[in-house]
Amino acid sequence: MDDCLIVGGGVIGLSLAYELSRQGLRSHVVDRGAVGREASWAGAGILPPANLQAAVHPWDWLRARSHELYPIWSGVLLDETGIDNGYRRCGGIYLARSAGEAAALAGMASLFRDHQISCQRLDAEQLVEIEPALVPSWATGAFRAVYFAPDEAQLRNPRHLQALAAACRGRGVQISEGVQVRGFVRDADRLTAVETNVGTLRAANFAVTSGAWTGHLLQELHVSSGIMPIRGQMVLFRCRRKPFERIINEGSRYLVARDDGRVLVGSSEEEAGFDKSTTPWVLSELEQLARDLIPALREAEIERTWSGLRPGSFDGLPYIGRIADLENAYVAAGHYRSGLHLAPATAEVLACLLRNQPPPIDLVPFRPTRG
Ligand SMILES: Cc1cc2nc3c(=O)[nH]c(=O)nc-3n(C[C@H](O)[C@H](O)[C@H](O)COP(=O)(O)OP(=O)(O)OC[C@H]3O[C@@H](n4cnc5c(N)ncnc54)[C@H](O)[C@@H]3O)c2cc1C
Repeated sequence: MDDCLIVGGGVIGLSLAYELSRQGLRSHVVDRGAVGREASWAGAGILPPANLQAAVHPWDWLRARSHELYPIWSGVLLDETGIDNGYRRCGGIYLARSAGEAAALAGMASLFRDHQISCQRLDAEQLVEIEPALVPSWATGAFRAVYFAPDEAQLRNPRHLQALAAACRGRGVQISEGVQVRGFVRDADRLTAVETNVGTLRAANFAVTSGAWTGHLLQELHVSSGIMPIRGQMVLFRCRRKPFERIINEGSRYLVARDDGRVLVGSSEEEAGFDKSTTPWVLSELEQLARDLIPALREAEIERTWSGLRPGSFDGLPYIGRIADLENAYVAAGHYRSGLHLAPATAEVLACLLRNQPPPIDLVPFRPTRG
């Protein structure tokens, strides 16, 4: 029998399966579609800076531990699968146009300083050196403040998911696609199986990692959660050459350049239920932002647009832990805008719980029963 049946093969489920396999546990990942094709595929792969030495709150620990693990996992995944997941410590620029935005960035920089995370305010000369592609829009006087955080990184998330899935398969993890979990079989305080469209599947433990759809499954277990889908739309440009180096952040929107000249521009935050369509007005706003900021994008063609459903939570924190009245059922979901970033540390924490070891952090802020 498998040690763990993992419901949902996004970045959270696949990272958990990978971590469990490294610790010698056998898992079976089931996904109602193809693995790694929902929010985890749709995201931009921005990994903000963090510092483990200064992490006090469990949330800071999750961010910082993931920050520490990503370069290690990326190297090991490359060795195991030959797939380069595109992890690059490219640095991030933060732009403010209004006084309010400048104040928000000053607050962010001071928080970074408290956590001993490098972040500097740039003047015109420094911007020329660090991100010359932004100099023309700086020259229009559009920005009140510009900051640079050299420790920000990016990941080509579709490739990372391919690498995770390949590494899992290589380590004997069973991955079953087109298998939808519809319910659970319970015996007193334990789950014994899940009911699916292809029959009943048994395991010793169960982990629900179903992203934005987790709320439906938890309801089957009489657990109410605040997990809800928050749609994000994205525009992909294609350029002949990489037009800039750094991740460019402006409020909740951003531009990310990949090594092959593709540029991702995102994103919106919309409550649209489980509707994954795109809308012309959001796409056109994103397109305009990109063409205004980076002159090289004015002539670039749009290759593709899409949207994805982030697993949002009412307080912005993920749900990670054991499901209260069940001895062998766990959840890891609701990572909202940070699921790609937080996946390795989430996997590490959940693997501890599954092995009956004390977790490295206090999981109270992430408890699944918090409504
Ligand atoms: C536009 C956009 C940009 C983003 N940018 C970033 C970013 O830059 N950095 C970052 O860290 N995060 C980013 N995110 C957020 C990140 O993508 C998510 O937090 C993360 O992917 C969530 O991973 P997940 O595995 O929980 O969910 P998902 O990737 O959605 O995976 C859940 C899986 O569960 C499966 N499933 C659902 N129900 C069932 C069922 N009943 N039975 C079987 N399988 C089921 C689904 O098919 C799916 O494959 C972004 C998201 C979006 C949409």
